[in-house]
Amino acid sequence: MSETPSTAPSSTPVGVDTTQASIARVYDAALNGKDNFEIDRQVLHEVGQVAPEVKDMAWSNRRFLNRTCRYLADQAGIRQFLDCGSGLPTAENTHQTVQRVDPETEVVYIDNDPVVIAHGKALLEENDHTHFAAADIFKPGEVLAHETVRRHLDFAEPIALLQVGTLHHYLGDDGPELMRTYVDALAPGSYVVVAHFFDPETPEHSELARKMEELFVHSPMGSGRFRTRDEIRALLPGLEILPPGLDSPADVELCDLWWPNGPRSRPPNQAESCIAGVVGRKN
Ligand code: SAM
Repeated sequence: MSETPSTAPSSTPVGVDTTQASIARVYDAALNGKDNFEIDRQVLHEVGQVAPEVKDMAWSNRRFLNRTCRYLADQAGIRQFLDCGSGLPTAENTHQTVQRVDPETEVVYIDNDPVVIAHGKALLEENDHTHFAAADIFKPGEVLAHETVRRHLDFAEPIALLQVGTLHHYLGDDGPELMRTYVDALAPGSYVVVAHFFDPETPEHSELARKMEELFVHSPMGSGRFRTRDEIRALLPGLEILPPGLDSPADVELCDLWWPNGPRSRPPNQAESCIAGVVGRKN
């Protein structure tokens, strides 16, 4: 993980407004990518004034994505992935992780960011089993009816539906209903993965979560809600929650503590304490 800051986007697709921050580009900047603009880095800079480790939150989210994909492909035997809010291609994208287990695993990425659509489509659609569709992930009906989704995913068989680093950008209170539409469309044996900005409801972290939310929502990016454990769990309606570790009770957990790669060398820092993940199974 390089800590070298990016200086300029690799190119500016026609029609992209460089005066507006975008979720995909701010996240790209946090991961030290190159497809971001000054306005995106400014959002990070401002949040960094109250949470200096804000980039670690993005890395926690990304590592969780990688580990849950590996778990679902390898341990749970899932061969179809619907990745909602794919983001800009970076190291170790979903299809690379899961197709290492089985090269014929089908992956459909969904995003609506113009830069992701311009750059991402070509880079992500690397082989015959990897596809990209432009749609609004907060309109499940649109995603589920999309021709690319219907053509490449078999809804009679288990699917892993990923909402990693996405639902905190949905500001409405009807997230559970939105997610229920997705869950209802999935076959038994399917999984739902959610990573979400987290208000741990502890005196030392709730204040930080509240300040970060204030900055994200009022920034040119315009969204970023920190939800509590109960609010995040409600985004997996009717699902059996998987334990996030060998001796852990099934629950929402900090992203970095969900099946960690080994013992941690240090406790989660402030920002890493404000991003949580959860995996649910439809029985
Ligand atoms: N899932 C990836 C990960 O965890 O590494 C990327 C997460 S990134 C923080 C969130 C992505 O969701 C961005 O690429 C953004 O464009 C996309 N996104 C946000 N709202 C969306 C919407 N309404 N429809 C489609 N994509 C959306």
